[in-house]
Amino acid sequence: MKRHTGQDKDKTSRWRLETQLVRGGTWRSELGETSEAMFMTSGYAYDCAEDAAARFAGDQEGYTYSRLRNPTAAMFEDRMALIEGAEVARSTATGMAAITHAMLSVVKAGDHVVSSRALFGSCRWVVETLLPRFGVESTLVDGTDNEAWKAAVRPNTTAFFLETPANPTLDVVDLQFVCDLAHENGALVVVDNVFATPVLQKPLQFGADIVAYSATKHIDGQGRVLGGCILTSEKILEEHVLPLIRNTGPNISPFNAWVMLKGLETLDMRVNKMCDNAEKVARALEDMNGFDWVRHPSLASFAQRDLALKQMSRGGTILAVQLPGGREQAFKFLNSLEIVDISNNIGDAKSLMTHPASTTHASVAEEARLELGITEGMLRLSVGLEHPDDLIEDLQQAADKAGVTG
Ligand SMILES: *Cc1c(COP(=O)(O)O)cnc(C)c1O
Repeated sequence: MKRHTGQDKDKTSRWRLETQLVRGGTWRSELGETSEAMFMTSGYAYDCAEDAAARFAGDQEGYTYSRLRNPTAAMFEDRMALIEGAEVARSTATGMAAITHAMLSVVKAGDHVVSSRALFGSCRWVVETLLPRFGVESTLVDGTDNEAWKAAVRPNTTAFFLETPANPTLDVVDLQFVCDLAHENGALVVVDNVFATPVLQKPLQFGADIVAYSATKHIDGQGRVLGGCILTSEKILEEHVLPLIRNTGPNISPFNAWVMLKGLETLDMRVNKMCDNAEKVARALEDMNGFDWVRHPSLASFAQRDLALKQMSRGGTILAVQLPGGREQAFKFLNSLEIVDISNNIGDAKSLMTHPASTTHASVAEEARLELGITEGMLRLSVGLEHPDDLIEDLQQAADKAGVTG
């Protein structure tokens, strides 16, 4: 392998985001390929037995086995670390593998976790159901209520977990407050930053200790492959994350890591364009005057707008609405869409809409769902890259057919 400027951290850390997204972390082989090489290999051969021994001893640079590191996955990890401003990153097969391993790496039996209750369904299951099975207690709080975080801390609290903005309610957690509180109490903070993306929000700057992503969403951005990433400091990686993942093996496939590298090249462009579209669509939905509410952090009517825009450079690509006619009207609306797909994925180039109460949050008990504000009339829209006027026309005709307007 030839060294490439993409690997020179002193230089790449001074590059602007757009350059980092295209060139950060790149290694180039002797062949000089412009597109990153895909190393579909599980193992590595050594020139001699002494080299193998030296590499295992850590005295020689190089790869030993793809569960420990793979060159294509490493390029994805190095690029992710660079854009997030993290010291290090490790990639995983899915977003849930990233979040589960991040959480498991910072707790042991007897510990206690405080978490916001507005979470992606599987994240909530990890905190509420999986961790207690292994003797880790958890308390779920209203993440928007700083006093609730404070009140939940116990002497054995070792980790905080949160998602902001949260899926699908767009609840915003005060990152600076919660990170400061955790550190005063000797706890580490793990943030699921999927909704915000690394383009719009960098939780490490507010003190978060670990940031986890589902790369399946905006990072791939074209609905093709699953992947995830854990970003943190060298110290936390060595002490907490590596001992776990080197042995449990949640690795991403080199093929999927390569797809993610291609996705990152256009991440800034796509996320900003999707934010433009989301802002226009949110305003148009509000103007239709038939919804109970329209929620997007860019709207003047968004209750936590100031906090959201203090932490995020823009309002994001996802919005939520509530229809007055409950599930029946929400389904009628979805079934009338001609461009927007009925789909529970997010971050895709294609606009996707879902009814959280019957899909992503169907497994959350009804009472807990209502506590979160996930009502029967609520729909979530992940805004894509289509022309915003086509999206607005499609949503307008669906609103008309469902009897939301007029
Ligand atoms: C999708 C998602 C996840 C899980 O990611 P997978 O890649 O599907 O495993 C976690 N958190 C949030 C907020 C998500 O949207």
